[in-house]
Amino acid sequence: MKTDILISGAGPTGLTLAIELGRRGVPHLIIDRNPEPAPGSRGKGLQPRSLEVLHDLGVIDEIRAHGTTGLPLRLYQGHELSVELATASAKEPRPDVPYPDLVLLPEWRVEAILRDRLAELGGKVVFGAELTGFEQDEDGVTATLSTGEQVRARYLVGCDGGHSTVRRALGLSMDGRTHDDQYFLVGDVTVDGLADDAAHAWFGPDGAYLALSPLPHAGGAWQYQANVVPGQDGTVPEPTLDIFRRLFAERSGRADVTLREATWLSRYRFNARMVGSYRQGRVFLAGDAAHVHSPAGGQGMNTGIQDSYNLGWKLAAVLGGAPESLLDSYGAERIPVAAHVLASSSRGFESVFALTGLRRFLRDHLIFPLVKLPAVMARLLARTNQLDIHYPDSPITLPATGHGPRPGDRLPDARTTTVDGAPVRLFDLLRGTHWTILGIGAQATADATDDLHVHALAALPGCRPGTFLLVRPDGYLAARATDPNVLTRHLDSLLTAGV
Ligand SMILES: Cc1cc2nc3c(=O)[nH]c(=O)nc-3n(C[C@H](O)[C@H](O)[C@H](O)COP(=O)(O)OP(=O)(O)OC[C@H]3O[C@@H](n4cnc5c(N)ncnc54)[C@H](O)[C@@H]3O)c2cc1C
Repeated sequence: MKTDILISGAGPTGLTLAIELGRRGVPHLIIDRNPEPAPGSRGKGLQPRSLEVLHDLGVIDEIRAHGTTGLPLRLYQGHELSVELATASAKEPRPDVPYPDLVLLPEWRVEAILRDRLAELGGKVVFGAELTGFEQDEDGVTATLSTGEQVRARYLVGCDGGHSTVRRALGLSMDGRTHDDQYFLVGDVTVDGLADDAAHAWFGPDGAYLALSPLPHAGGAWQYQANVVPGQDGTVPEPTLDIFRRLFAERSGRADVTLREATWLSRYRFNARMVGSYRQGRVFLAGDAAHVHSPAGGQGMNTGIQDSYNLGWKLAAVLGGAPESLLDSYGAERIPVAAHVLASSSRGFESVFALTGLRRFLRDHLIFPLVKLPAVMARLLARTNQLDIHYPDSPITLPATGHGPRPGDRLPDARTTTVDGAPVRLFDLLRGTHWTILGIGAQATADATDDLHVHALAALPGCRPGTFLLVRPDGYLAARATDPNVLTRHLDSLLTAGV
């Protein structure tokens, strides 16, 4: 069969890309080697920036209805409760940060909500179809599937997770490190007898760790995680309900709590690895296929969703006639983001899970006492909210001097009015697949084509009257100027071949 974009892998990254293409009417095929959607809570936190993306994709209400915010974390040292940490920002939504808090919900639910949105757009995952190989030439990619079918596509995007077939076929190595002094057993279990108004984490004197987090709207299931150190002979226990129970009893000291009905059991090591390039010719990598992180800080799924949010509109634009070079900005923008996430989640991992030595001492005697302080906790949460991701050095950002929002930054939401006095929410104006030009306190004729909307606003925080802003389809500021022609020329140069 023939299509424009072949997406290999239907996790959160592949599904986001399929929605981005689907809502632009781009022909695509999304396949997954699993015969059916994968179980498992896995990445269970959506960060504030991802929530803004999901608002734009049209699923924020479903995400919030199935998730929860502000679940406190009860931290135990040994068997004793040490502190209850507030994980909410303690802030009401603000006009510029409409979703201030992480929303907790299992990854299988995120995927189900994204699949439903894709279905609304007329798309569907083909399960039970594994990409087994591909060849690319000047015009496209010919891929072979386990079903025996061949697919001819203009581009292939590997969203096929940490063991990516696409990445391996490209011969790209994942550079970085694996923390192999400990493994983590993880699973979803039903828990009786433990208060579900909080998540719980036990830290033992010997470096042992165990956490249980209730999963919202998941029939009483909790996510279980525990570290295990390989034995003298290097063996590591398999994840089983019996092992889960034994570790829980030892580490929590609670005999009044029962674990039963495991619906997902797995084991992993913490990796911090990424590829050096996200593109080879007509083949791209996104999500875990390109970078794998420690779950500390809850960034992996979020980074994958935002990779696709960055790549989707660019692929659609190039298929619509924009210069191929637009696609190089994908790696230029997203590789530094993954490198930063890797570094900070590795630091987080080493601070929290150090088994011995100075780091352990610092954790117990410095970090734990410090995170009890609400201001310290709020700063830690702000570091992982991904609202400060920006692309100032991107080849498609037009730098600007003077006063006003900085090109490359995310344009925050705002409540304002049009020059005619009608109240508007900025995210409502930006929502959709188009570019946007905003004239602030300036003469601009409101206009809308499929690709570009123009609005004249009375005011916008941080902008002087007479400012014009060019906003990308993914909500980042591409250019700022006092002459709107500067913006239209920049847009033309990005979208029109030969300009
Ligand atoms: C315990 C745990 C906790 C975590 N906590 C968080 C968290 O709080 N926040 C967060 O953001 N992230 C978290 N993560 C990370 C998160 O789960 C991953 O980053 C996320 O799943 C990546 O999504 P993805 O779509 O890129 O890849 P995946 O979800 O791995 O999806 C890849 C898909 O590709 C398919 N596939 C593979 N090979 C092929 C092939 N050859 N052909 C066709 N299909 C193929 C697979 O079947 C799979 O469905 C956590 C992970 C774990 C294990």
